[in-house]
Amino acid sequence: MDEQTARREIVRVGQLMYERSYVVSSDGNISVRLDDGRILATPTQTSKGRMTEDSLALTDLEGRALNPDRRASSELAMHLLIYRERPDVHAVCHAHPPHGSAFAVAGLAIDQPILSEVILTLGCVPLAEYGTPSTDELTEAMRPLVKNHNALLMANHGAVAYGADVWQAFDRLETLEHTAKIAILARALGGARDLPPDSIEKLIDVRERAGYLDERARCQACGYLHQTRVTCPTGERDAAPTRRDAGSGAASNGKISLTREELIELLSQAARAAR
Ligand SMILES: [Zn+2]
Repeated sequence: MDEQTARREIVRVGQLMYERSYVVSSDGNISVRLDDGRILATPTQTSKGRMTEDSLALTDLEGRALNPDRRASSELAMHLLIYRERPDVHAVCHAHPPHGSAFAVAGLAIDQPILSEVILTLGCVPLAEYGTPSTDELTEAMRPLVKNHNALLMANHGAVAYGADVWQAFDRLETLEHTAKIAILARALGGARDLPPDSIEKLIDVRERAGYLDERARCQACGYLHQTRVTCPTGERDAAPTRRDAGSGAASNGKISLTREELIELLSQAARAAR
C-alpha cells in the first residue's frame, strides 16, 4: 500500500476505534507495513479519535524513528513482533475494547464454538499471559500465539488483531469485541450453547474452501477442536494459558472446584455424549 492511502486509512480507523469505545484517552495504536517495508504508526500520547494524516510516525522494522519529531507509541514492539512472525500481515490494530478486555482481565480466551460466522472468519482468540506493556515480557508471551491466530487477548491489558490490510485488521478487532459481547450477554441468559463437533467440522471445511482462513487455523488453541476430527497439519496445536475457571476452578494442589452452573453443564454434556 502507498504511504498516502495508508495515512488516510489509519486516521479513519482511529476515528472508528474511538467512536466505538475500543479506546479512550490516548489508548491503543494502529500501524501499517508499507510496500517498501517501512512502518507507518500512530503517534504516542495522542487520541486515536483526533489524529491527522501528518501526525503519524514512520519507523523501520526495528522500530527506529525515520522522522525523529514524530514518535511512535511505545507499544509498537508488539506490532513489530507480528510483522516479523507473519509476512502475510500488513496492518495491526491494538485497542482495549470493553467486552474483549473483560475476557482478558477475567483470564479467559474467546474460544467457545458458539457463533458459526466467527469460526468461519476469525477462529479462536487465545489469551497471552500478562507481560508489562512496552517490554519484552509482553512480546515473549505473545510470540508463540501469533503464527496461527489472527487476533489475541493480552491478560489484564486488551486485544490486538491483524490482517492483510488495515480494514481486515479492524474488522477482526470488531468481530472479537462483538463475539465477547454476545458471549457475556448469553451468560446472563443462562449460558451459550456450543455448536456440536460435526457442525464445527463443516464450518472449517467451508472456511478453507472459501479461503477465509487457511490450514494454519486448524492449529489454533481452541479446546473444542479436540472433540472434532480436524487435524493440525504441523501435528501440534497451540496451547494457550486459558483459565476457564476465572478464579474458581483448577488449583495447583490437583483439586478442582466447579460452580453449580459448571457442574450442571458438565453432567449434561456427559449425558448428551452417552445418548
Ligand atoms: Zn494497550
